[in-house]
Amino acid sequence: MKTVGFIGLGNMGGPMAANLVKAGYAVTGFDPSDAARSAAVEAGVLMAASAAEAVAGAEVVITMLPSGRHVLDLYQGTAEVPGLLASAPAGALFVDCSTIAVSDAREAAALVVAAGHRAVDAPVSGGVVGAAAGTLTLMVGALAADLAAVRSVLEPMAGRIVHCGDPGAGQAAKICNNLILGISMIGVSEAFVLGEKLGLSHQALFDVTSTASGQCWALTTNCPVPGPVPTSPANRSYQPGFAAPLMAKDLGLAVQAASTVGAASNLGALAAALYQEFAAGNGSALDFSAIINEIRDAS
Ligand code: NAD
Repeated sequence: MKTVGFIGLGNMGGPMAANLVKAGYAVTGFDPSDAARSAAVEAGVLMAASAAEAVAGAEVVITMLPSGRHVLDLYQGTAEVPGLLASAPAGALFVDCSTIAVSDAREAAALVVAAGHRAVDAPVSGGVVGAAAGTLTLMVGALAADLAAVRSVLEPMAGRIVHCGDPGAGQAAKICNNLILGISMIGVSEAFVLGEKLGLSHQALFDVTSTASGQCWALTTNCPVPGPVPTSPANRSYQPGFAAPLMAKDLGLAVQAASTVGAASNLGALAAALYQEFAAGNGSALDFSAIINEIRDAS
């Protein structure tokens, strides 16, 4: 049974670490937030005094952090604070589950390998509900042998594990998926607002589009109007769910990657701009499907 160091015990990392504890792993964690630390201790995570201490005896190091900067800084450390790469035992499997830029993921993987460890990126989809239930989809970028070595540790957190390619490929898949999701949510929302103006009921439009060629997850699972899908955030005042600031972040990463590699993404750029404006204003604490209210207000 592998020992796990888990860094970043927030909304996602906390329940993911709890599922590893439930599966019988010895998990030592760290997070600077008092609330995150208390919840993790409650769930059976052993708490270290620092991130470096948490990974000192770990065969697997999992990070679930806000951004690529956090991951790179923690991996490398500073003159005063030892980094994770220098603190973990040689040959440790470094699994970054955070959503970060593809370029940051590749830089992180190169640092991991240069330090004598093994690099896996495994961003997730499924949100806090999937994290708590252990049903996340993990999009993995890793050498096949490294995924094989770490798979049993990923399984308690995952409903599905997809090997996307070498390190960095998991992050690439994640931002491509969320590029589709952000654009399709705006499309579905525009269609409902247009339907309202044309006198169509939400249910009639849903009954047609959910079984016709407009069908997509933004419509059939996360429907932006209350009624047709009773479990969608629209039925609970748009409480997330998947918060608009996270969608703004992911679309920003997608547009950044598109610009780096020269992929045309006109709708991606527009969707990113709309979500960034929404996340900075009315949408700061709402599910990303609440963007329909901005579209209605602008109509
Ligand atoms: P969060 O803010 O709840 O958790 C991040 C945690 O990292 C916080 O508890 C914070 O204290 C901790 N942290 C910050 N700096 C640290 C440091 N130096 N050392 C240790 N811990 C540190 O965010 P979250 O919702 O858990 O998201 C984490 C990652 O997962 C993000 O990259 C996000 O984009 C991604 N993600 C989130 C969701 C979601 O629905 N929340 C879904 C998919 C992916």
